[in-house]
Amino acid sequence: MFRRIQVVSSLLALSLVFCSGAASAASETERRAEEFKSGIEKKEAGPAGVKKTQASHEKSAAPAEGKKKVVRHKAPHAKGAHQQAAHHEASLEPEEALKKLLEGNKRYVAGKAAGPNRSEMRRSEIASGQHPFAVILSCSDSRVPPELLFDQGFGDLFVVRTAGNVVDDIAIGSIEYAVEHLGVKLIMVLGHERCGAVGATLQGGEAPGKIKAVVDAIRPAVERAKGKGAAGHDCDLLCNSVKINAKMVAEKLRASSSILAEFMEDGMLKEVGAYYDLDSGAVSLTYKPNL
Ligand SMILES: [Zn+2]
Repeated sequence: MFRRIQVVSSLLALSLVFCSGAASAASETERRAEEFKSGIEKKEAGPAGVKKTQASHEKSAAPAEGKKKVVRHKAPHAKGAHQQAAHHEASLEPEEALKKLLEGNKRYVAGKAAGPNRSEMRRSEIASGQHPFAVILSCSDSRVPPELLFDQGFGDLFVVRTAGNVVDDIAIGSIEYAVEHLGVKLIMVLGHERCGAVGATLQGGEAPGKIKAVVDAIRPAVERAKGKGAAGHDCDLLCNSVKINAKMVAEKLRASSSILAEFMEDGMLKEVGAYYDLDSGAVSLTYKPNL
């Protein structure tokens, strides 16, 4: 099963995700790609404003962006009433975004999922611009679809999925885009029960092909879980490894991205680690460094 896991992180695929409109024409796709490419440096005029900040107080051990100036964008201005509603969602404070996620999960667990925002009307509302209220970094495992288990719909969640919910530069860049350009204020790193990628890492041995990169990224969490004091009272080694992995990935996001670190230091962005129970469907918070 683990071999079937697809690491969805190609730049081409992401360029399609980032396109907020129906960019079927080649020229439109190119324009969008260029817009994304220049997103961080791009300046916006008007009341939405651009706040320049000097990354002068970075505490991370290995800041990815050095002392480069970070230009922040607020979410694009909405025009229509529906878009204004979507824009409001993009402005959800971290606590509100987390509450909305957990409430959706409660509905899902109780068998009362509402399946919101999945209509043709919703599709039309957000065709010209996306304003998700949370980033979900989850495993590619087919049993963990974020929109379903949080009972959300089109345009609600900015999802990055990789085997073992680990990140590389492309995944981190994707999250930076959601925060810096789309205004998302909450990141959830979501591990899950019986994760095949973490399980394969626990088993050890040589992983074939590029799967080795996934296993190598997970290994520090597994080693920490095996270490002294890491055993939990209600969780086996695999479960512990998954939870520690989510925590370490969240830590990595702060340590390796000066953009994310700065937003967090300013209180404009928060992150949580969470664990999805395959049996019950429940998501529980396992790491809350700033909430
Ligand atoms: Zn998994």
